[in-house]
Order: sequence, then structure tokens, then C-alpha cells
Amino acid sequence: MENVFASKHPLVAHKLALLRDQSTDPKTFRELVRELASLLVYEATEDLLTTPIQVQTPLALSQGAELKDKIGLIPILRAGLGMLEGARELMPSAEVWHIGLYRDEQTLKPIEYYNKLPVDPTLSMCLILDPMLATGGSAVATTDVLKRRGIKKIKFLGLIGAPEGIQNLHTHHPDVPIFLAAIDDQLNERGYILPGLGDAGDRQFGTG
Ligand code: URA
Repeated sequence: MENVFASKHPLVAHKLALLRDQSTDPKTFRELVRELASLLVYEATEDLLTTPIQVQTPLALSQGAELKDKIGLIPILRAGLGMLEGARELMPSAEVWHIGLYRDEQTLKPIEYYNKLPVDPTLSMCLILDPMLATGGSAVATTDVLKRRGIKKIKFLGLIGAPEGIQNLHTHHPDVPIFLAAIDDQLNERGYILPGLGDAGDRQFGTG
């Protein structure tokens, strides 16, 4: 599908297998989420705009580059918080906007319970961070919110996507590129991704 990118990087595949493993403890799980998020951010940001600058090294003048895009990181609470750590390590001056959504267990539809976005944003690009693109409901709702705030360039970064969620996000927002570590088989009747990794929030925060 156009605009959907599943990483082919061996480091991503290796870390994802560890992440899926049910015997991986919460501390290691969080470290892996952070590392995978960094790797995905690296892959998803190769088109960032830069301004040429000059830098004085200890020996001579060098040509350099400075990031021009003003970037926003949007972790979908709560599972997106672990990915935020990894993204921020690469982009420490990015703005962080929090959006809280939970899935209604009956309807599987996203319910917004927290929204701390600036009224007049000046960002040129937003990265939505959510490890599991399951039904895609939260991703679609978050993208709706960002577009209503005038953000034109949006990318979605997740660790595992189900075909249903990818299709949903792509149908509602075909302009939003989707970057994933892997695309899995399907959703089960409770909206969990198979084979997946279980509940990404519970596994990060030890609440399972
Ligand atoms: N959210 C999760 O944490 N895991 C899934 O498999 C689906 C949604």
C-alpha cells in the first residue's frame, strides 16, 4: 500500500522479536520500545528540511546543516509514552503535545479524555507515536485533531500494525505516511493484534 513503510532493518527485526517475547520483563520491554522508536524516527525523518550553516571546527571552517522543520511529538497516552523517550533522544528540542485516548472495550472506538495542545501551533511537522496500530481508531482521531489545528505534515509511527488499522488510517488520511516495525496478521475479537505483543501499555507499565 502506498505511504506505508514496514522497516526492513535487521536491528529493528531483532529488537522486535525480543519485544514480542512474553518472557521479556517490563524494564527490558521499555528499553526496547525506546530503542525501536529511535530507529523508526531515524527512518521516518530522512526528508526533514535543513538550512546550510558554517561551523568552526578546532581546525577549519566546515559546512554544516541545521534542522529547519519545527517538529512536534504526539504520544498517544499511555502506550505512546515509551516511544516518546526514544524520539526525544534524537530530537530534544521537539515540542511534545499530549493527547489522551482510550478504547471503549465494547465499541473499540477511541474516547478522548485529555488534550493539551496549544491553541495556535507553529509546528511544521508532527509525529504521532503509538506502538500498536490496531483498529486505527485512535490514530484517525488524533490525526483529525492535529489537522483541525492546522498541521499539514503528519506522520504516524508505530511498532506493530494490523492490516485493519493500517487500512483505516490510510482510508481516512491517505496523505499521512505510516512507519512501522512490522505488519502483523489480523486483529482478534477483542481488538488485539495477532501475533502482536499483548497490551503495550500493560507491558511497559507492569499493569498486566
Ligand atoms: N493495543 C495494544 O496494546 N495491543 C494490541 O494488540 C492492540 C491494541
